[in-house]
Amino acid sequence: MKNTSRVLIFFFLGISFTVSVLAQRFGPQTLGPTFPTDDQVAKSIYKEAMDSSRLPVYAHELLDVIGPRLIGSPSMIKANNWLVAKYQGLGIEAKNEKYGEWRGWDRGITHIDLLQPRVRTLEGTMLSWSPATKKGGVTAGLIVIADVPDSVEFQKWLPAVKGKFVLISQPQPTGRPDKVWEEFGTKESFDSLKALRTKMTEDWQKRLRKTGFRRDTLAFILEQAGAVGVFSSDWSSGWGVYRVFGTTNEKIPVVALSLEDYNLLYRLIEYGDNPVIRVETESKFLGAAPAFNTIGMIKGTEKPDEYVILSAHLDSWEASSGATDNGTGTILMLETMRILKKYYPNPKRTIIAGHWGSEEQGLNGSRAYVMDHPEIVAKTQAVFNQDNGTGRIQNLGAGGFINAGEHIGRWLSRVPDNLTRDLKVSFPGMPGGGGSDHASFVAAGAPAFGLGSNSWDYFAYTWHTNRDTYDKLVFDDMKNNAALTASLVYQASEDPTFVNRDRRALPVNQRTGQPMPWPRVTEPERAGQLKK
Ligand SMILES: [Zn+2]
Repeated sequence: MKNTSRVLIFFFLGISFTVSVLAQRFGPQTLGPTFPTDDQVAKSIYKEAMDSSRLPVYAHELLDVIGPRLIGSPSMIKANNWLVAKYQGLGIEAKNEKYGEWRGWDRGITHIDLLQPRVRTLEGTMLSWSPATKKGGVTAGLIVIADVPDSVEFQKWLPAVKGKFVLISQPQPTGRPDKVWEEFGTKESFDSLKALRTKMTEDWQKRLRKTGFRRDTLAFILEQAGAVGVFSSDWSSGWGVYRVFGTTNEKIPVVALSLEDYNLLYRLIEYGDNPVIRVETESKFLGAAPAFNTIGMIKGTEKPDEYVILSAHLDSWEASSGATDNGTGTILMLETMRILKKYYPNPKRTIIAGHWGSEEQGLNGSRAYVMDHPEIVAKTQAVFNQDNGTGRIQNLGAGGFINAGEHIGRWLSRVPDNLTRDLKVSFPGMPGGGGSDHASFVAAGAPAFGLGSNSWDYFAYTWHTNRDTYDKLVFDDMKNNAALTASLVYQASEDPTFVNRDRRALPVNQRTGQPMPWPRVTEPERAGQLKK
């Protein structure tokens, strides 16, 4: 049966709101996609992405074998080299482009054991750039950061931390997600939980403020006062998930604990049970490490000095494997390049895949790239960036570039309908903040699209958490994304006209009465944590 679906795209000039790409469907979805064109390359791209995906293999090699990719770590360099080798194996030109340096550091083990009043091995991870303990670990008692009237009293209290592990985060009243409270609790019990949590949060913020120190310097103050280690806990509101970021401490380890193991220690201290724990962390500081962007390239034939750019940061935090942030974006771009090389080996425009370093510390790799390559930015037709997980791409923003919206509409009209069915295009959209690397390109003046995925509970469960692992990948959605991204790049490369730089007027700031300024690129951090 012939499927007569058609993609209809509506555009409204000059205002920013979201339009849906509507697929009018006649008949069941299982009949497969309808191709709006008879283009053999477009069909082959789709078929390759769907039927011969390499995504599971790429995911295994990157996430299981190399693991997380902290900037400055040996694993990040391994990942840079892995990508170069993958590209070269596909016959694609590739290189690591050094844009700066970062403090070199290699993670070893984190072992945390409660010894008294009973034995239990605790779930936790030392923060990135955390110092090691002495071999065999440190055994000591614990103390909670005191609730003092003011900073003078805090200074008087501070010597009490000597020889102890210090807890500096607020305990949580529940480890159950709110969805569960809503499902099983009474309205009254859920309301009182929320009130209690708000009060505990406010009280804890006051407690920290009264120390006279900023929250992010507290661990360092405790180190100077003779503590043997610091515990924090950063729950991300799902079952068993916590986030792990970095520290600038130099002598004592800073360790993130899971919600309940943190709460357990907290209760044991508060009830006077005098808990004792042993902590062993291993890590190595390695001096200045190179910070790279890995760049893959398929040279254009007709317009080699015009570009279509695939963009995804390669670095990650390292609470687990960095699977959805941003292993998925990384292998999406690699897979897209593989497919294009196979069925579109002589593109009209040059296709670049940019795998950025140090996105997590402030888009450093992509900012460096746009600053170092103004000639590429000026001649870039479109940038497609992915950085929010594993789900089907559902949102495309035109970043405030008026003409880009018209082009993307045309490109999407040539993509199989089942890829665009749920897609919303924000046109012309807004330049947006610094959420991910497309912002660097938008700020530098190139039309850049964030490929926004369906969330799959990204922020509650995988974003920077201890559960961002291979099992969370949804390969069906990722295959769709590879088909869509490769199709868009193909269309963007083939487009007879170049996307111009017309930008929307930004809304007026109510306070100043002036239009909001267009974002500008600023110099990235090219010597991270080396200045101390
Ligand atoms: Zn990310």
